[in-house]
Amino acid sequence: MRQLVRNNILALKPYSSARSEYNGKQATVCLDANENPYGVLINRYPDPLQTDLKHMIATAKQVSPECIFLGNGSDEAIDLVYRIFCEPRMDNVVAIDPTYGMYEVCADINDVEYRKVSLDRQFQLDADRLLAACDDKTKVVFICTPNNPTGNDMNREAVLKVINTFDGIVVVDEAYSDFSQLRPLRLELNDHPHMIVLNTFSKAYGCAAIRLGMAFAAPPIVDLFNKVKYPYNVNLLTQQRAADLLQNEMLKVHQRINMILEERTTMMKAFAMLPVCKEVYPSDANFFLAKVTDANKIYNYLVDKGIIVRNRTNVHMCGNCLRITIGTKEENARLLGALRILTNP
Ligand SMILES: *Cc1c(COP(=O)(O)O)cnc(C)c1O
Repeated sequence: MRQLVRNNILALKPYSSARSEYNGKQATVCLDANENPYGVLINRYPDPLQTDLKHMIATAKQVSPECIFLGNGSDEAIDLVYRIFCEPRMDNVVAIDPTYGMYEVCADINDVEYRKVSLDRQFQLDADRLLAACDDKTKVVFICTPNNPTGNDMNREAVLKVINTFDGIVVVDEAYSDFSQLRPLRLELNDHPHMIVLNTFSKAYGCAAIRLGMAFAAPPIVDLFNKVKYPYNVNLLTQQRAADLLQNEMLKVHQRINMILEERTTMMKAFAMLPVCKEVYPSDANFFLAKVTDANKIYNYLVDKGIIVRNRTNVHMCGNCLRITIGTKEENARLLGALRILTNP
C-alpha cells in the first residue's frame, strides 16, 4: 500500500476537528467548536465519521463498519481516489470505454492521464486488453458493473481476472448492483485488499437529493479516505434522512426495485417494437440503451414534448443511441406513446 499512495498523502498530518478530538455524546457542556449555543438540532457539527449511520449501512449492505467510507455522493469517493493514489502528470489510470463520465472528469481535474480500453462488440470487458494497457505508472483501474451507459453487467470472470492480476487499486462501481442478478462484489471485500467498491443512495435507494455515496474497502484504504476528506463531509440532515430510510423504508425500497425490474422487462419489449428502434441492448440496471434511427432528431422531438432521455450518440460505440431510465408506468407510457406516433423518423 505504501508504494501505491502519494508521498504527500503518506506524510499528511490530517486536520483534527473539534468533533474528532472529543466525540463524547455524553458531554453536557460543549465549548470546544465555536458553535452557537442557541438553536436546536442543527447548531452542532455532525459526527465527522458518521458512526451510527455506518453501523446501519453495515447491516443493510453486509459489510463491516470499518470497511465503509461515506461521501458527498460517490463522486466524492472517485475524486479522493485520484487525490490519494495518483501523482499528477506522472501516474495514470485505466478504465473501460464507454463508461461513467466522472472517472475521466476527475482525472482531468487532477491532471492524471486517463487511458481508455474499449469494450468489445457485446459491450463486454476484455481483461487481457485492459491489463495490457496498464504499466508501472498505472495506479488505478475503473470498472463499472452494471456499466453506465451500456446497462450490462461486466463478465464476472473478466472482472476477477483484472482484480487478481493487477497490482494497484481496482475501483468497482456497483451503483446499479441492486438491479442485477449477480452477487455484488462488495460481499467479497475480504478476499481483495486492493478493491474499492462504490455504492450510492442515488439510484436503487431513491435518495439522489441527499447526496450520499459509499465506498467499501479494506480498513487501510478507508483510513486514507478519512485522512483526506473534508472534516464534516456528510451533513447531519443527510445522515438523518439516510438513517430513517434504512430503519423504516427498506421494505418499500425493495418493493420499488421489483416494480422497476418488472417495468424494465415490459418497457424493453415495447421499445423494441417501435418503428424508430433498431436495437435494444441487454440491461442489468434501471435503464437501458437503445439504438434508434436518428438519436438527435428523436431526442429533440421528445424534448419538445417535455420528455427527456439521455442522448448518448456522441459516446464511443453509442452512435444513435439513447439511454432511457425506467420511470413510473405512466412516464414510460408517455414515452412510448410519443414515439409510436412519430412518423418518418
Ligand atoms: C449515478 C452513478 C453514480 C452515483 O453518483 P452519486 O454521486 O452517488 O450520485 C455513481 N456511479 C455511476 C456509474 C453512476 O451511474
